[in-house]
Amino acid sequence: MKPRNKFQRKILELSKTLSPLNEHQYKEAVRKVAPHIAKYNSKKEYVCLDCGHSWKGDEATKVVCPHCSAKLDVDKTRKWNFCDRAYFAIVTKRGGCQVVRMFFMQTNLRRGEKATYWISEAFQRWLTPDAKEVIVGRARHWMCSYCDIWNYDSEMEIRTENYGHYVTPYKVIGQSSVIPEIRRNGYNGDFHNCSPYTLFQRLLTCNKTETAWKLRQYKMVAFSLAKKYEFEKYWPSAKVAFRHNYKITDASTWYDMLDALEYCGKDLRNPKFICPDNLKEAHDLWIAKKRAKMDEADRRRERERQMTPLQRYEVNHKVDEARYKKAKSIFLDLEFVDKEIVVKPLQSVKEFVEEGEYMHHCVFTNRYYSDDNVLIFHALVNGVSIATIEFSLKDFSVLQCRGKYNQVPEHFDRIVSLIKSNTSKIISKIA
Ligand SMILES: [Zn+2]
Repeated sequence: MKPRNKFQRKILELSKTLSPLNEHQYKEAVRKVAPHIAKYNSKKEYVCLDCGHSWKGDEATKVVCPHCSAKLDVDKTRKWNFCDRAYFAIVTKRGGCQVVRMFFMQTNLRRGEKATYWISEAFQRWLTPDAKEVIVGRARHWMCSYCDIWNYDSEMEIRTENYGHYVTPYKVIGQSSVIPEIRRNGYNGDFHNCSPYTLFQRLLTCNKTETAWKLRQYKMVAFSLAKKYEFEKYWPSAKVAFRHNYKITDASTWYDMLDALEYCGKDLRNPKFICPDNLKEAHDLWIAKKRAKMDEADRRRERERQMTPLQRYEVNHKVDEARYKKAKSIFLDLEFVDKEIVVKPLQSVKEFVEEGEYMHHCVFTNRYYSDDNVLIFHALVNGVSIATIEFSLKDFSVLQCRGKYNQVPEHFDRIVSLIKSNTSKIISKIA
């Protein structure tokens, strides 16, 4: 993609001034990112897959190659060829901007051969002090969902962000160089297992991240980079924890526990609940309580499901009737008449049961009586319902007008226009 503005042109120019990987960085990548394996067989023989050297020795899980001095993990499987793919990052700055350069590395280890390493820069993420972002990188191969999908023959150009750019580097290589704005906001030389780019971006844009990081709540911040919703939602609890010098050592367990506490209706600002001495124990306790409560709710729903509407009405009728009267009493004396048709609100929750049973629809089972935004009428002829009407108290319109089995009722147009012509009477009740 061609740069589209002055800013992107500037970044692209700056990008060209970044040097390729130097020998020191290359060696460090080989040492820290590539796997280093020694094969061990039943004849007590080791083979170094870095250099191909073999020697005899006693069994161990880690050894050092006497020929190339590589530190090796011992592998006793029958596998001889290894292909490893990983990303590493170089963190640097240029022209007042923060840059995170992402390199892709493929290591091939084969029996009797020297290890080969192939490294290429995949993309760079640029971040200005005011958190403007630009990506310079390779094109992607389409049709491929695997992560090493960059077309390494393409030029480093301005690119639109896509999910491939969210990859977290396995290691950060070399001395990191960081702009003062990010240092000011708390970065102190260690990423604490956070993805460098995401951490920088958050430190520049999110005060809460800055606060938590400066209080050394690294586990919490690392968690928040992937799960910002929980981090934001439970921030008031986090602040209480900070005030009590409570260190969150396992963020996902802590947030899980807060979820359970919330479900159980506990006070999420009470240090007694949210700062337990033994987090794991407290977590297990509240999760068990939450589960018991959920099971009870399931059983109640199941019991209700097996009841007839009338039985279900009997269980809650006191609360429901009182609530319905309170919410709808001002409307209950409304009555609109057009010759033989009389339209009036359902007078009680009991009438919802009867209406639902007689009309074979869900006016009771879907609890229309508890919706404060609607008023339910029925249209009667000779005292018998021919239609049920849902009327919106928000925009004062007829939402539904249904007959038996949710069919279009007889006299549909007359019923609807009768209500429309009386809408002002409904509105005057609210005033
Ligand atoms: Zn070796």
